[in-house]
Amino acid sequence: MDYHATLMRYAVSTTDATVLALAGLISAALDETGEHILFIRGLATDEARWLLVRWFPGVDRALPLEFGAAAVDSQSGSCDDDEFEDLVTLFKSHADPSAGTTIEVHCISNVLACACLKEEHLWQALRLPSRRELSALLGHWFPRLAEKNVLGMKWKKFFYKQLCEREGWFVCKVPICSDCRDFADCFGPE
Ligand code: SF4
Repeated sequence: MDYHATLMRYAVSTTDATVLALAGLISAALDETGEHILFIRGLATDEARWLLVRWFPGVDRALPLEFGAAAVDSQSGSCDDDEFEDLVTLFKSHADPSAGTTIEVHCISNVLACACLKEEHLWQALRLPSRRELSALLGHWFPRLAEKNVLGMKWKKFFYKQLCEREGWFVCKVPICSDCRDFADCFGPE
């Protein structure tokens, strides 16, 4: 089944970056399990259901999903809990209250944290067409965070650098990015 196409048939918008990102992460999760079992790390069963109804109303008629504990058991522990929670906290602490409700911010923050733990660039993990849509999403929900990325660092690298600075870690070998041998890794095209 083409989960992404099914989700988008019921989406509240076919162009909004948030909706596209949610469809991307959900369809990737379903593709990975190969079953109609949805687990979004950080979201309780009722919160995952709420997310679907909020952004894909009626999709449950075409896509009968299970949100059971089996899904949670099969996927929990697949990444570092502290890292995940730190990312969620980073997003939530920069959320714009006028962008959406508390539960919406909770859903988006956890979805982004899930995507950050994947190997690909963040926009790819969310199955977005390009970095541009990801930047639009971040600018909407977390404008104060997005504005800090003045030099256009790759988003995932930028988030982890924010976490380093928050915790007082000095992972970078030099204090200034322009002097760094790894500059291309952090700022190259994504
Ligand atoms: S370019 Fe170098 S100094 Fe700048 S964030 Fe990346 S690793 Fe750190």
